[in-house]
Amino acid sequence: MTGRMKRLVSAVCVFALCTGMSMNVHATAIDDAKKKGQELENQKNAAQSQKQSLTDQINSIVSEMQKTQDKLTAKEEEIDQKEEELTQAKIDENDQYESMKKRIVFMYENGNAQWLETLLSSKDITDFLNKAEYVSEMSSYDRDMLTEFQNVVKKVEKQEAALKKEYSELSELQTQLNDQKDEVQKVLDATNVQLADLEKQIGENAANLNKLIAEAQAAAERQKQAAAAAAASKKNNGTYVTPGPSVVSGNGTFTHPCPSGYITSYFGEYRSPSDPAHKGMDFGTGGQAVPTYAAAAGTVVIAGWSNSAGNWVVINHGNGLVTKYMHHSALCVSAGQTVSKGQQIGLTGTTGNSTGVHLHFQVEVNGIAVDPRTYL
Ligand SMILES: [Zn+2]
Repeated sequence: MTGRMKRLVSAVCVFALCTGMSMNVHATAIDDAKKKGQELENQKNAAQSQKQSLTDQINSIVSEMQKTQDKLTAKEEEIDQKEEELTQAKIDENDQYESMKKRIVFMYENGNAQWLETLLSSKDITDFLNKAEYVSEMSSYDRDMLTEFQNVVKKVEKQEAALKKEYSELSELQTQLNDQKDEVQKVLDATNVQLADLEKQIGENAANLNKLIAEAQAAAERQKQAAAAAAASKKNNGTYVTPGPSVVSGNGTFTHPCPSGYITSYFGEYRSPSDPAHKGMDFGTGGQAVPTYAAAAGTVVIAGWSNSAGNWVVINHGNGLVTKYMHHSALCVSAGQTVSKGQQIGLTGTTGNSTGVHLHFQVEVNGIAVDPRTYL
């Protein structure tokens, strides 16, 4: 293989690599988008289960708050009742105090007025009772009654204070529950924001995935079209061109079929396992379509299309000698016509099974391929 051929082959390889790489880039981007979509779905599921758990917590707190509220309402009623009780106890105490004072006043109407004045100037009931302690005439019944009423007042006051303390504890608990609810609600709000964001990301990712798939499909379609176009250009079996002047070169039996070409492959060279020995010689023409010539006078038996030989020409020279010319981009001859030695038969190309512009020149004797150099 010559440098030019190598460059051509490597150019073809680079094209194939690029095509493959672009497919890989699409596939990788699609895989990435799919993976990202799965991750986002997982995150969304986690956020949703967190949301469910937070909602459950809030519901449980709200139900506890309802219970506490019921207790508070009951406590308020108890306190109201206790207040009424206290009011009545105070009225009873006051009644007893007043009636006791009246009885004392009555008892001492004609006694020591100065002492009475002292007694009546008592600042409260306790003070009064202390002073009255010394009044022997005062009935022990009155004293006991007043003390008892005082005790009732104190007891009810204590009960009311206890109830108010319980109420305040319940209020405190309710405040705590409310704070707790606010905290959970904050987390729930954040979770809802996170969920909305995840939903948005999932939507964007899905759109991106669809776009990537569409791009990959478009790229695949373009490739298919390019391949079809390349295949179509390879066929190129209808092109005929007007021949240029005949060219006879060298002193051999044959004139050179492609004098401006250079040898890129010899006869008998190993090509592939299925084609171990090259049946002809290849002349590269540097990517240019250059004239090819009939090696000797004869009759064109084939001038047309072959899937493997592309646009090819087969010339019968008689006496069992046949020449074959393959992979033309265009032909100048038709089957059945006679050609002279050196008459142009076509232009080199890369049609059929070919990887670059060249002429495959094959010589056969009685159907057996022989080395063309024998005749050149
Ligand atoms: Zn060849």
